Amino acid sequence: MTEIVPKIIIHGGAINPDSEPFLEEIKSAIFEGIKILKTGGTALDAVTESLYMLEQKPIFNAGIGAWPNLKGEVELDSIIMDGRSLKAGAIAAAKNVKSPIKLARKVMEETDHILIVGSGAEELAKAFGLFELHKIPEERLKQWQDIKRSLKEGKDVPMLNYWKKISKWASIGDTIGAVAIDKEGSIAAGTSSGGFPMKLPGRVGDVPLIGCSTYADNNAGGVSITGQGEVIMTHLLAKKIIDLMKDGYYAKFATEWMVSYINELTGGKALLAVIAIDKFGNFGSARNTDKTPHAFMDVTMDKPLFHFSKIIR
Ligand code: ASP
Repeated sequence: MTEIVPKIIIHGGAINPDSEPFLEEIKSAIFEGIKILKTGGTALDAVTESLYMLEQKPIFNAGIGAWPNLKGEVELDSIIMDGRSLKAGAIAAAKNVKSPIKLARKVMEETDHILIVGSGAEELAKAFGLFELHKIPEERLKQWQDIKRSLKEGKDVPMLNYWKKISKWASIGDTIGAVAIDKEGSIAAGTSSGGFPMKLPGRVGDVPLIGCSTYADNNAGGVSITGQGEVIMTHLLAKKIIDLMKDGYYAKFATEWMVSYINELTGGKALLAVIAIDKFGNFGSARNTDKTPHAFMDVTMDKPLFHFSKIIR
């Protein structure tokens, strides 16, 4: 068996620009993951700590920077999966959680469950010292207020056009996700999100649902997806990509094929960006988005690679 070079790949959401300051923050997060992998740490720790760093940055739609829902409240979704054991942990529609990705990991490691929602997740956050009253950053609040005002005035809000029935209310968000493989060949994947900005209260997206935004299986690979949650859910997209990789397809083919397939099914209308690492240690990334900050690095490189995701329309 060829030796695995530990590596990590990260995305910063479907519509955040593939430029500064997003790339700078992703670079710091990727260095954090690489530091862990270089010193023999696990893919699970690399994914957790990298995503934790991004959750603390107000510019991403996850953790502190998460977009408020229609009522102006932040409800967080996150998931983490360990490809060694196929164990996963997730939280959904959770308020006042300091680190959704760390709480998801607690669900995986400290409970008999996979998904804890709403007030249950808040209680769990208290039990694990991860409770923090959510203070929406000023800039995010201003963006939210501007959109809300435009909606009330009946103005067209281009970023809300993705929804048919609730186009008055919703838009696409800027989730974060990571996939890593360590020297043992163990793979982990995680995704964390505020969900769609202006989503209806109580709406749970694809992020915390196993096999939708995220999956990891050492016999196949790991995947994290950002984009239009309802489409990702309908097609169990992460699991579909995993199944391709289980059949021996490389991450590059599996991610590109899946974006083409969804483009065809939806007439290119479902926004989508995918990152993956296969069981052989190859990475892949494809998208139909214009933007999406993303980066890749392995432990032999001295700086991350940017702008590699294949755009498929
Ligand atoms: N997929 C997320 C959701 O629908 C949004 C995103 O990826 O930015 O909640």
